[in-house]
Amino acid sequence: MMTDKPAKSHGRLAVRPSLKPRELMTNTPDIFGAWKVKIITLFPELFPGVLGGSLTGKALKEGLWNLETIELRGYGIGKHHDVDDTPAGGGAGMVLKADVVGGAMDDARRGTPMDPNAWPVIYLSPRGKPFDQAMAQKFSQAQGMTLLCGRFEGVDERVLEEYNIQEVSLGDFVLTGGEIAAQALIDATVRLLPNVLGNADSTVEESFSNGLLEHPQYTRPATWKGRKIPDVLTSGHHGKVDAWRKEQSKRITRERRPDLWADYEAASDDKKPCD
Ligand code: SAH
Repeated sequence: MMTDKPAKSHGRLAVRPSLKPRELMTNTPDIFGAWKVKIITLFPELFPGVLGGSLTGKALKEGLWNLETIELRGYGIGKHHDVDDTPAGGGAGMVLKADVVGGAMDDARRGTPMDPNAWPVIYLSPRGKPFDQAMAQKFSQAQGMTLLCGRFEGVDERVLEEYNIQEVSLGDFVLTGGEIAAQALIDATVRLLPNVLGNADSTVEESFSNGLLEHPQYTRPATWKGRKIPDVLTSGHHGKVDAWRKEQSKRITRERRPDLWADYEAASDDKKPCD
């Protein structure tokens, strides 16, 4: 029986048989129905990278999500497997070739839905829509996604048009490649998948989820270098703790992020999710 949850039998996760040659397989189980990311990159050895550590790494090993890299070099042209060429019209640097990236895209598409809501296809790019928590939420609700990591000056524009690829940016700065951006996007998305974080509440109350930045956090010791934890937090009065945290969230958002604060203020009271 197929469900949209990872199949289980005898307490072990069921592994889907694959026809792919061994060397193309990642060493993680490919669990049917689990959220999956396909990453087109010149540097597959950079994955899972930081995603292999801590909670995302544990979830990867447990098969709560899957990662597949598609090495761009394998689609290179000619004796030297060329993947890039000089920019048409001149100028500095190199551009990833449309015929090379296209070959990888065709393979990545195999077995994935065409509906961009069910399976977003994204090129990490400084020209893209700025990545945010709402996008991470949306991506985590898809079946999976395909990420194209650029290098050099980027990719031939025609590939983006041909495959209707959306551009997403990590911020207003330029990285040397899309791999770090891809790992940041995947981390933000994967931690929203069911069972990845130990405590599901932590994604409900954290920064951005209610349009505000998070309040300050403290833990023992009660006094450190003469600095005390605010009394209200040790009062045991939950109502007062909640009110204090809300006030702090508002103050920090107002001071640091006038853009978020304006949006928060503009939302009518009944639209403020956690007020
Ligand atoms: N010439 C491009 C920059 C290329 S940087 C430009 O001026 O827009 C090389 C690659 O790094 C890009 O193809 C992209 O995949 C990645 N990259 C660089 N900055 C990024 C950012 N802010 N967000 C996401 N990806 C980025």
